[in-house]
Amino acid sequence: MSRCIAFEHLWTPDGWLSPGYLDVDAAGRIAAIGATPPPQQRVDEQVAGHAVPGMPNVHSHAFQRLLAGRCEIGGRGHEDNLWTWRQRMYALAQRIEPRHYEDVAAFTYMEMLLHGFTRVAEFHYLHHAPGGARYAEPAEMAWRLAAGARRAGIGLTVLPTLYAHAGIGRTPLPEQARFVHADVDEFLRLAGSLHARRAEHGAAVGLALHSLRAVAPAELSAAVAGAASIEPHLPIHIHVSETRHEVEECLAGLGARPVQWLLGHAPLDAGWTLVHATHLDEGERSGLARSGALAGLCPMTEAMLGDGLFPLVEYHREGGAWAIGTDSHYASGVAAELRMLECGQRLSRGRRNVLADAEHGDPRRLRSGEQLFASALRGMRALGDPAPALSVGSPADVVVLDPHSPTLAGHDTEAILDAWLLSGAADAVRDVMVDGRWQVREGVHLRQESIVRAYAEAAHTLFD
Ligand SMILES: [Zn+2]
Repeated sequence: MSRCIAFEHLWTPDGWLSPGYLDVDAAGRIAAIGATPPPQQRVDEQVAGHAVPGMPNVHSHAFQRLLAGRCEIGGRGHEDNLWTWRQRMYALAQRIEPRHYEDVAAFTYMEMLLHGFTRVAEFHYLHHAPGGARYAEPAEMAWRLAAGARRAGIGLTVLPTLYAHAGIGRTPLPEQARFVHADVDEFLRLAGSLHARRAEHGAAVGLALHSLRAVAPAELSAAVAGAASIEPHLPIHIHVSETRHEVEECLAGLGARPVQWLLGHAPLDAGWTLVHATHLDEGERSGLARSGALAGLCPMTEAMLGDGLFPLVEYHREGGAWAIGTDSHYASGVAAELRMLECGQRLSRGRRNVLADAEHGDPRRLRSGEQLFASALRGMRALGDPAPALSVGSPADVVVLDPHSPTLAGHDTEAILDAWLLSGAADAVRDVMVDGRWQVREGVHLRQESIVRAYAEAAHTLFD
């Protein structure tokens, strides 16, 4: 049994359909899409406003949402940067119990849905109990994420993360004991068991390597080989080149810059996501673009941590694939992340409309909002689902913008994405559907009250 939904305006990669029809099958996938309903199909639901595909979020550490807004105190008499922030994050990570992990994930994923994300890749390294003791169920914490995702109704790809060292050649710190496995085999057993039971928990599974600082070359090779034996083309994610310090450490320890090293030693292709990749030289930038790997950019977190700016304009012109993540969740919204991304590039170059370029870009997309939005949709493959957004066979993930939002007032359809993403003070998201099911209606999540209450209780327990 399929269900036909008529949208007043429906975005497709080839332009707006006004109206547009989606036929959604019982599994929540798109059976048909077009300017007319499928033959003999009655329309089951009419939706006013502008409907766009749900956005994939390629990088999240859900528990770090607890720190957003709690680490903005200056005057400590030393330089404050990612490494000082990390000490706060480690202190928090020591205290989180499984129930907190689930409650914070449900809240963080609910916020993502309220602001236009419908799927998320969770880079998960909080594996063990405080002090490093193993839970009776080794996948306890990963399944808590899946439980949080089900409460929120977001599509989850959990990425169990290999974390083995405090830095290149350095044994792990006591505060990293929750992240570290005895060896790569123990880690691969976790990844394999998550993959085997993924349907039961309603999650997809990929694999992550924390970074070249935390994973040695031999461990990286063993994990990549192990991933292929779990499933060919399992998505693989890695943090890379987030700070200049990391570049220097790799040069000293591995004899190459981080992305340069990966290009020479790892089988980078469209199944890989390099998270941040902020500090690239020209050779790394071009090599990454040619490799087909995705750059996972986290604009608000990179800005708030003072990491630096990714060379997006040149990379984009070279055909490099990129997508967005919310990482530490300073914003958790599609518009906030894409606006920060575009603004950072404009500020650093003294130019406007830096990606929507007739000479180098997609000539159909000369509007910045449209160009940013269509490009970031490529993040679906980082979650293990390569079908293009809103195409036959892809999940029925739809975000409907509110025509009565002040942000969209007076705009015609062609400018709607520019208005939503690059103007206005209020987010215009009104309704959100994941796998054919509404999770947000009229700007409110269906389980918002209970999810917010549980999160607030967790925060009080952890910080009081
Ligand atoms: Zn991260």
